[in-house]
Amino acid sequence: MGVPDRYHLVVANARLRGRGDIVHHIGIRSGRIAAIEPSPLRGDAELDAAGNLVTPSFVNAHLHLDKVYTLSLAGEEPLQHYTGGQMGQAMTAIELAARVKDRYEEGWIHRHAHRALLDGLKHGVTHVQAFADTDTRGRLEGVKALLRLREEWRGVVDVRVVAFPQDGVLRDPGAEDYVRQALEMGAGVVGGIPWIEHTDRDAQEHIDRMLALASVFNRDVAMLTDDAGDPGLRTTEMLAAAAIREGWTGRVMACHARAMGLYPEPYFRRLIGLVRRAGMSFVTDPHTGPLHLRVWDLLEAGVPVALGQDDIADAYYAFGQHNLLEVVFLAAHILGRSTRRELEVLLDMITTQAARVLRVADYGLEVGRAAHLVVLEGSTVLDVITPHRPPRYVISHGRLVAQTTGTTTFHAIPTP
Ligand SMILES: [Zn+2]
Repeated sequence: MGVPDRYHLVVANARLRGRGDIVHHIGIRSGRIAAIEPSPLRGDAELDAAGNLVTPSFVNAHLHLDKVYTLSLAGEEPLQHYTGGQMGQAMTAIELAARVKDRYEEGWIHRHAHRALLDGLKHGVTHVQAFADTDTRGRLEGVKALLRLREEWRGVVDVRVVAFPQDGVLRDPGAEDYVRQALEMGAGVVGGIPWIEHTDRDAQEHIDRMLALASVFNRDVAMLTDDAGDPGLRTTEMLAAAAIREGWTGRVMACHARAMGLYPEPYFRRLIGLVRRAGMSFVTDPHTGPLHLRVWDLLEAGVPVALGQDDIADAYYAFGQHNLLEVVFLAAHILGRSTRRELEVLLDMITTQAARVLRVADYGLEVGRAAHLVVLEGSTVLDVITPHRPPRYVISHGRLVAQTTGTTTFHAIPTP
């Protein structure tokens, strides 16, 4: 036996959620959290958290990683249609945005996506569920770029690639075949966007075909449901019902599902019962559109909900730094939730809830789990959300992978 109480890395003087006011020390050995103690620990290397909050690193459950930084290519027209009014023209936005895909090429997608992962890591993001348009216009260029990235970043950022038929399966004959090829190439998740089809029957078939692929390839499913301002959209329900029928409970998530914000109460209550039976989870991104799902009601019913970045400077959203604390900050405003308890819940939605949604098992601030941690700037949840600055340190698989320092020097200011 070696020295049992010596660690490869120690994060000292960490403030931890739910552990009161005293600071703790986290011992990391072989990439895992080996100890969390109130007394100091000895390590080969040490990072001083200096009383700042330490949490698990951030999980981005929804990002269109093949489209990042394409706003200048797409122009502003789709943006107007997607975010305007009550999202009556969301479909037009998607049709306009698809023009970018005629220029899809693995090389530049890879360069853009690499930069987005770097931006994310700076902000503490170590897990990303990345959607790649997989259809007759985008072909497999996005998938190829993101699969390459997944291998290059292995051990630092976990990239989960979703094969996503953005323009529909019935509306875009041939897309299904591209999704199948993407899965054969190793894409980890089956995507879908049933609401974009022309009829409810086609939406149902879209779901059935994608679930059939999920079953053949044994993959989880992440679909964009009901992403327009129409209370009559029912593809969240269709997806949940199909998951139950096809024996895919617990393996299906819905992103966006914005029409939920317009559902009549009795229908919404019925839907909650169904999604619970389906073991379905949700990802929301209230900053990228004027409608959003009923986050608090879902969470109260025990349905997992994550916050995602969704877009970074593309046809649907002009901003984005891959900063999930910023996403939390925006969500707090848009959803009108800012008590201490509510901010805690929002922070869970980019950490533990998001890990639940993506079924990342080896995660969390507990002894024995993989050491994915961030040392934040601030000692309370409010302190870190308010400025949403990059973490001081980002640790992935027990290794320091990003460090941010920055100070402002004032000149010629009056003395108090
Ligand atoms: Zn999205």
